[in-house]
Amino acid sequence: NKKIRLDRFLANAHIGSRAEVKRYIKDKRIKVNGEIITDPGLHISERDVVTIDDNPVIAHHFVYIMLNKPAGFVSTTAENEPSVLNLIEHPYINELHIAGRLDKDVEGLLIITNDGDFTHNLISPKKHIEKEYYIYTRTPVFVSEQMKNDVEKGLEVDGEKFLPGKIRQIDEKVISITIVEGKYHQVKKMCKKLGIDWEKIKRIRIGKLRLDETLKPGDWRELSQEEVRKIF
Ligand code: URA
Repeated sequence: NKKIRLDRFLANAHIGSRAEVKRYIKDKRIKVNGEIITDPGLHISERDVVTIDDNPVIAHHFVYIMLNKPAGFVSTTAENEPSVLNLIEHPYINELHIAGRLDKDVEGLLIITNDGDFTHNLISPKKHIEKEYYIYTRTPVFVSEQMKNDVEKGLEVDGEKFLPGKIRQIDEKVISITIVEGKYHQVKKMCKKLGIDWEKIKRIRIGKLRLDETLKPGDWRELSQEEVRKIF
């Protein structure tokens, strides 16, 4: 059961800004389970009943969407470019953002949500959330011990240092690269450094959450609570 600070809960529910809701708490207008609460940092759960001036505050729900991103769509809302957000028809669409972008030509697992904390944790290199990519090559590539060691030490490409990652052979023409950060064009830069001539890059996993292979490119579905927990 996810707990959340009272002031954040109220701000999420669009009662007011973070500063405004702190004021309401100070002014003793907020009750939790019938009791006036003056601590904005009190952690509450879904089962707690929150009121303002004795009117119930309806919790704002978090949405987490898994999209199998097709190539040719951008992870922003740039003009003149088809955005992945155009693929999703959802009542909350206007408040959703992309948690960890993929390049226009990269495919696979993309998470779209309205939970800012979730996104922050997902993309923070400090949290060490693994992101695994399959690299499809035109010609067979052999992953050598040297390549493994280099990636495990952390590659340096044109003066840019990457955190330790993993590389392994999946098939003659398929290689897996796992990273815990998401620097600009990181996997592509790593491939270049390793001499891997990629044809297609597809993200297949974030944390323990794997891309649902029943989703065709462009298809999406909401994640269950359990799936969301698999990420951290
Ligand atoms: N690495 C890249 O180069 N591109 C992506 O979209 C993701 C990781």
